[in-house]
Amino acid sequence: MAADPARVRAPLLAWYDAHRRTMPWREAPSPWRTWVSEIMLQQTRVESVIPYFHRFLARFPDPAALAAAPLDEVLALWAGLGYYSRARSLHRAAQEVVERHGGEIPNDPETFGALTGVGPYTRGAVMSIAFGRAEPLVDGNVIRVLSRLDHIAEDPRRPAVSRRFWARAAELVVGERPGDLNQALMELGALVCRSRSPLCLVCPVAADCDARAAGTQEDLPLKPKRAERPVTTWTAGLARDDAGRLWLARRAGDGLLGGLWELPAVEHPADLATLGLTAGEPRGDVEHGFTHRVWRIAVVAATGTPHAGPPYDAVEAFAEDALPALSGPGIKALRAAGVELAHRRGAGRKPS
Ligand code: SF4
Repeated sequence: MAADPARVRAPLLAWYDAHRRTMPWREAPSPWRTWVSEIMLQQTRVESVIPYFHRFLARFPDPAALAAAPLDEVLALWAGLGYYSRARSLHRAAQEVVERHGGEIPNDPETFGALTGVGPYTRGAVMSIAFGRAEPLVDGNVIRVLSRLDHIAEDPRRPAVSRRFWARAAELVVGERPGDLNQALMELGALVCRSRSPLCLVCPVAADCDARAAGTQEDLPLKPKRAERPVTTWTAGLARDDAGRLWLARRAGDGLLGGLWELPAVEHPADLATLGLTAGEPRGDVEHGFTHRVWRIAVVAATGTPHAGPPYDAVEAFAEDALPALSGPGIKALRAAGVELAHRRGAGRKPS
């Protein structure tokens, strides 16, 4: 049976006060710092986010500064964090904050939640942490803690089950320090109620944990089998201009990897001609896995002067020491072709 919220809240907050990790966005919190950090932290580890957070805030100290910047610059500062749709949405949302709210981040769940890219999680995080509102949030860590605490042995992706997690989180967040309570739930999931080998002996809510009582904690949350991901094959052309610079193409729009650069690629080798290139010798093969699909890319040497065409809205030649924001598959393809990219890592992983 689900424990009384008061029995969970008090020990959880006391544990958080004693054990919480120091993070730059937790010190001197502000709505903007909280918002940026929460977007960066989605799907990304804390240690990876910290240097990006400092750089981003130094360049964009408020929404107005981000709103005024060109998207290319925003993506370049994001390069390496992956999931670029987050950067595009934050950029757009900052413009909305300037256009609709005079540059002030709205202190209201409905109004803030209407901004581009602000889903229920981000809304709950900013409202509770930055504005002290009793708004719930649910992420992977919270799902793990609550599924064990209340022994919820159902697929968390099912809408009815998801509603149950949100309802429980909403029940728990009511009271003093809602932002800390939400962070405590997430921190407990990160440090104690871990996927494997949870540290139940030191857990502040162990006395009220149904999964621990049943000995089923490592079976929860339920993990549904992953469906086979469809595979798309690409042929990418490696061509240079007369000065030896690399021809790169930029994926159009807000879709998968939109705004990022890579070697011009087509799904059928013969179609390279539609981008103005003639295919030559093979240079390497790579595979890139997204959440719901897999790309296999065959890189070939190519000749010609490429031009824009679907799925690209721009083509440009770049010196190798001055490359723009590259897609994750683009980085892998360039490396497979022997292009040195020493200072880049992991850009464009699994966009959401
Ligand atoms: Fe997680 Fe164990 Fe704590 Fe239950 S007792 S919430 S399983 S760490």
